[in-house]
Amino acid sequence: MTANTVTRQHFNQYFVPVYDPAQFIPDHGKGSRLWDTTGREYVDFAGGIAVSALGHAHPAMVEALKNQAEKLWHLSNAYTNEQVIKLAKKLVDNTFADLVFFANSGAEANEAALKLARKVGSSINPSKTEIISFTKSFHGRTLFTVSAGGQPKYSAAFAPLPAGIHHATYNDIESVKALINDNTCGVIIEPIQGEGGIIPACPEFLKQLRELCDKHNAALIFDEVQSGMGRTGKLYEYMNTGVTPDILTTAKSLGGGFPIGAMLANEKYGKQLVVGDHGTTYGGNPLACAVANAVFDIVNDEKLLAGVIERHEHFVKKINELNATYPIFQEIRGKGMLIGCALKPEYAGRSKEIVNLAAAEGLMCLVAGPDVIRFAPSLIIEFADIDEGMNRLAKALANFK
Ligand SMILES: *Cc1c(COP(=O)(O)O)cnc(C)c1O
Repeated sequence: MTANTVTRQHFNQYFVPVYDPAQFIPDHGKGSRLWDTTGREYVDFAGGIAVSALGHAHPAMVEALKNQAEKLWHLSNAYTNEQVIKLAKKLVDNTFADLVFFANSGAEANEAALKLARKVGSSINPSKTEIISFTKSFHGRTLFTVSAGGQPKYSAAFAPLPAGIHHATYNDIESVKALINDNTCGVIIEPIQGEGGIIPACPEFLKQLRELCDKHNAALIFDEVQSGMGRTGKLYEYMNTGVTPDILTTAKSLGGGFPIGAMLANEKYGKQLVVGDHGTTYGGNPLACAVANAVFDIVNDEKLLAGVIERHEHFVKKINELNATYPIFQEIRGKGMLIGCALKPEYAGRSKEIVNLAAAEGLMCLVAGPDVIRFAPSLIIEFADIDEGMNRLAKALANFK
């Protein structure tokens, strides 16, 4: 196999078959447009699953990466570096958090959060180790995080699973009351369920969850891996809800496409992991943090965040127009540049079919489960790209029978 004979078939030949990628092979991108290896052009409404916050090849990110690439790539945790300190300060200065732990992914950030909740809980009382999560939630693929996740199809094959994890029903406070007690060390929740179908939590539910955590001295953990970093029109979605967690996890858009994750914590929790308790080789890597600093400086801006809301309104208007011609969606959900279109019951199970039809028309979009089409594009996608993507989606829907 030489470089110019790489085909999609090679994927099937060489890979552990855990993915089923699109038939085309993306080659390069600019903003919210992307070209495949045959030169075909696509509009990108997927954003690498809510990762490419500034689109592809944003000049500020490219420059940050190039500059850092010529200075210093890696150190290990025996040393710190300027980029990671700058990023930690930005996250602390602009959120509830007092302390930050850096990792390489969302799952690792959640793993740290759950371990922290366990450590704090068991230091209060040896049986204070129970974790409450929610049905349909998604928290990553390590064994602990996939067990916390509320989709048994992702964890069942890997039993025995870590014990002491219970699943309440999302947006149902009575189901939490039935599970929570003084042995609960933490409650982990996505303020908007992403993989579960773009389902926002009710503010009143989150408020009551906060009160229950306070009553039982349990950590409230917000998994903002998907909803964070400007995606919902605020830096973090908790700022929209009026509820402040003890621990928050962030990844995906944090690096705009360069792998990085972080756990943010208030002082009460953050101080309780001490030297040697937890760690990772690459967390806080200078390359990742240089890019994340560039992303942060652009995203943490009133004008950009207001633009996310404007784009949301434009998207929803366009989807409603489309739905008037091709009435397949029963509900449009989500916030900012995280939008879910739920299929009517008669089209249940067919979201992937629509994504494939869209790809054939030159549009990249996503599913969020079998019944929901998801859009998670760049936060700064051009309005003209939104319109062109919608034109292509219209063509795709014309072929959806
Ligand atoms: C994507 C996602 C994760 C996992 O992140 P990885 O970087 O894939 O490990 C965790 N939680 C939520 C809410 C996510 O959307």
